[in-house]
Amino acid sequence: MTDYPDTQLFIDGHWSPGAQGTTLPVTNPATGEPVGAVARAERTDLDRALSAADRGFQAWRRTPAFDRAKVLRDAARLLRERVEIIARLITTEQGKPLWESRGETLAAADTIDWFAGEAPRACGRVIPSRAAHISQAVVREPVGPVAAFTPWNFPIIQLVRKMSAALAAGCSVIAKASEETPASAAALVQVFVDAGLPACTVNLVFGDPAEISSYLIPHPVIRKVTFTGSTTVGKQLASLAGQHMKRVTMELGGHAPVIVSNDADIEPAVRALTTLKFINAGQSCIAPTRFLVQEGVYDRFVEGFSKAALALRVGDGLAKDTVMGPLTNTRRLDAIDQLVQDALAQGAELVTGGRRIGTVGNFYEPTVLSRVPVTARAMNEEPFGPLALVNPFSRLYEAIEEANRLPYGLAAYAFTRTAATSHHLASSIEAGMLSINHFGLALPEAPFGGVQDSGYGSENGSEAIDSYLVTKFITQASPLSGLQS
Ligand code: NAD
Repeated sequence: MTDYPDTQLFIDGHWSPGAQGTTLPVTNPATGEPVGAVARAERTDLDRALSAADRGFQAWRRTPAFDRAKVLRDAARLLRERVEIIARLITTEQGKPLWESRGETLAAADTIDWFAGEAPRACGRVIPSRAAHISQAVVREPVGPVAAFTPWNFPIIQLVRKMSAALAAGCSVIAKASEETPASAAALVQVFVDAGLPACTVNLVFGDPAEISSYLIPHPVIRKVTFTGSTTVGKQLASLAGQHMKRVTMELGGHAPVIVSNDADIEPAVRALTTLKFINAGQSCIAPTRFLVQEGVYDRFVEGFSKAALALRVGDGLAKDTVMGPLTNTRRLDAIDQLVQDALAQGAELVTGGRRIGTVGNFYEPTVLSRVPVTARAMNEEPFGPLALVNPFSRLYEAIEEANRLPYGLAAYAFTRTAATSHHLASSIEAGMLSINHFGLALPEAPFGGVQDSGYGSENGSEAIDSYLVTKFITQASPLSGLQS
């Protein structure tokens, strides 16, 4: 593949190599072959990025919200125009099929548009005062330069959520995107630059994730930390941010339950859940993982779902008919295989899949295990791959207990035709997002985030921009008050 570019750092309005000129390799997960390289930032590069973000913030915060919105809207337009180029970059470095990469890019453009609309709406309020000569206002100001850490599973969407909310609010950004998927992140930054974002307002770095986060988070220039990734790393970063009293948004792991009750419409449920489970080869924090199916429809569901899983065409994301691509890295390939082997050793039944496909690329069969003991590792650790665990339940309260058993609380799903069951589930499931009878999550206009070990704070929705704003209370007595009284 010759049209895959090497990626440099974007600091102070310029693309450049790292201070020492060192790079990290980028691999195509469908072939296992290196396709390019990404520059590695050193401490001096980070210092330059911090200085730029500091200056960028001073200028951008003073740019009227109305004008900030214009830049964002132009960025959304350019991103749509470049969808084919960017989709190809995503598929080459991340693995998902081209149609998914196009969808991710277009959804990113919608996200920018949404936050463009939010920028001028970040209003304060007037509080009625206790005396006629006093006025009291609450104004909302951008929190300051943001350090944003994003992963490899949705290289554009994860970055755009943070960047657009921060930029709409008037913040500058230092983003550290994933070293495994750098070119699409760089293409996204270029879109903002071409849309007229002032130099310094966004900086993009790559390198050693721990080295970068441990330097940026405590740094006095950085006022807000936002991270998407695993709960383990999220807890480390949140605790470091806490020591330095930095604002934090954490979008972490999940282990989404899906409850299918006896009265559910099974065929539409199977169709929706097959897409939702295996999209992005299951590497999504909101992918359904623990399927809890009521006994009356259990056999029918398992048969329909496993048949649909078996029929998925797995292959190189660049190939025309591919429905599911490879896993993005060999870490996930090994992790999924270990989870499957452990579950089988503990007595789970293999319905379909359960093996790596071939020896070239990170391909794994869409896998369905049934009657999986609750002690199996997969029932407790986020699978983050093409693995569905399907267990029967008898009474609804048992399903709710299992759904709420883990400390995760990101997404949850339910399929039922009974309003009473829907209402009961809506009030009983501990999750940041619940989607009933369809897949309705991950919209720019709706909050996206979790509770407990799945993190805190929202991305998307009007809640997202709030987390990049601080409130200031201003109370004034009129200078003429003495004359008038
Ligand atoms: P990981 O926890 O090592 O890394 C996750 C992401 O965080 C990567 O992009 C990585 O570059 C970054 N990262 C790691 N250590 C960091 C640090 N000290 N400072 C800043 N960034 C850091 O795991 P992984 O092998 O890449 O993925 C494994 C698990 O991560 C998955 O099983 C899943 O649970 C979780 N994950 C979640 C999401 C999500 O959308 N919430 C995305 C990717 C990975």
